[in-house]
Amino acid sequence: MPDVDVVVVGAGFAGLTAARRLAEKGASVAVLEARDRVGGRTHTVEVAGVALDLGGMWVGPGQSALHALAKELGVRTTTQVMVGDGVVVLDGQAYRGGRVAGVLAGMFEQLQAATAEFEALVQQASPDDPWSTPDAAKLDSMTLASWLDERITNSQARLFFEMTINSVFATGSANMSVLGAAVYAASSGGWSRLTGTSGGAQQDRFVGGVEQMAAMLAAKLGDAVRPGFPVSRLSCESSGVRVSGERGAVVGRRAIVALSPMLSGRIAFNPPLPARRDQLVQRLPAGSVIKFHVVYESPWWRAEGLSGQVIAPGAPVAVTFDTSPPGAGVVTGFFEGRHAVEAGRLTPAERSAIVTDLLALAWGERAREHLAYVDLDWSAEPWTRGCYAAHFPPGVLSTYGPALREPCGPIHWAGTETATRSIGYIDGAIRSGERAAAEVLSALA
Ligand SMILES: Cc1cc2nc3c(=O)[nH]c(=O)nc-3n(C[C@H](O)[C@H](O)[C@H](O)COP(=O)(O)OP(=O)(O)OC[C@H]3O[C@@H](n4cnc5c(N)ncnc54)[C@H](O)[C@@H]3O)c2cc1C
Repeated sequence: MPDVDVVVVGAGFAGLTAARRLAEKGASVAVLEARDRVGGRTHTVEVAGVALDLGGMWVGPGQSALHALAKELGVRTTTQVMVGDGVVVLDGQAYRGGRVAGVLAGMFEQLQAATAEFEALVQQASPDDPWSTPDAAKLDSMTLASWLDERITNSQARLFFEMTINSVFATGSANMSVLGAAVYAASSGGWSRLTGTSGGAQQDRFVGGVEQMAAMLAAKLGDAVRPGFPVSRLSCESSGVRVSGERGAVVGRRAIVALSPMLSGRIAFNPPLPARRDQLVQRLPAGSVIKFHVVYESPWWRAEGLSGQVIAPGAPVAVTFDTSPPGAGVVTGFFEGRHAVEAGRLTPAERSAIVTDLLALAWGERAREHLAYVDLDWSAEPWTRGCYAAHFPPGVLSTYGPALREPCGPIHWAGTETATRSIGYIDGAIRSGERAAAEVLSALA
């Protein structure tokens, strides 16, 4: 006899959404979560009295599933402030205001032309069935790096483009196919949407942080959510799917695995999964990111006409934002891609020194007078091991893509990587949970 109708593995936004939709329709659920908290790749901590998101944080236009959830739960958004001068740091020199235009002048044309051409390609890409994108096989056979190298000869323009790639994927353009990058961006409405603040994916933040919404969803599910329950095995038996780990086993008529594809590949399946599914997850790595916040008594840089944004292409930290709540000053930024891999070998104190040196170079010595520095290396997190999400190396989508969402008998797949809108984002995770719940409900009917 099954214990429940559906066992959900993972209590990130995907798993929690799937579980709530199933419960709303009267299905009994168990949500097994490895961590002692819910929320997965979102995590809010309080430092110096300020709620800080160390994982997912922003929400943009078009992310209607996340907006709807926040509205339902009564969590307000605040607009990402972008007033004042940004500072560009290149080759150890800081450029501000009108001098930035001078730095960009030599590279602007190539950067703009390549961006426009990539955007046109993104607009043709099909997130629902990537393999039907025009020229899919050709675009999937080429890395984004080779595509860019053919178009951009100016080394600084190439450096700038590479910086935006890293800020979206947390890995370099050499690691993904043109098709994979285009489909990812298309699922969010375009490349400029992903890289933008106003009108883009970094437009708004949640007051009090994102993790509270996961906790509220879990609270609605009550005892059905079981934190501290790492799942290591799924066995299909005559009574259903036995989902087990060190803490025991729960049998469900169906199971939803709501993890990144790479982590789903660390679970043992009996019988073994179809070859195409296994081969797919062997090929979907995640990027590397260390996100940090520097907390000050106040956002003092604003009075100096600075926006809080420092852009430093090629540097260990390539971009920062002013994310100050009322009553404090906060600068948020990222080590991404190979810089995160290198910085992951340093201590937080050493990383803090890299960050404050950059801010001091950009804004002056006052940048060193901070109250606190906090960061999180997501690659070191045993139940994440890489972020922001999986990316698609050459050949993967066109050869193995359909296996991403295809159920394997009574086992269904969720997680932001399986979304067709907002892939890689919280909004995508929610949508994937909705889709997996609908699949299961129709199978159980
Ligand atoms: C630094 C950073 C910044 C980001 N910024 C943004 C942003 O600004 N806006 C945005 O929309 N998105 C952002 N993202 C991405 C966003 O956080 C993710 O897309 C989203 O949270 C993924 O949700 P998920 O449910 O698909 O996966 P996850 O959140 O990874 O959930 C999977 C869950 O499964 C659990 N688990 C893993 N293995 C097992 C196992 N074997 N057994 C049981 N449980 C297991 C994990 O602990 C986790 O709770 C960011 C991510 C990071 C890391």
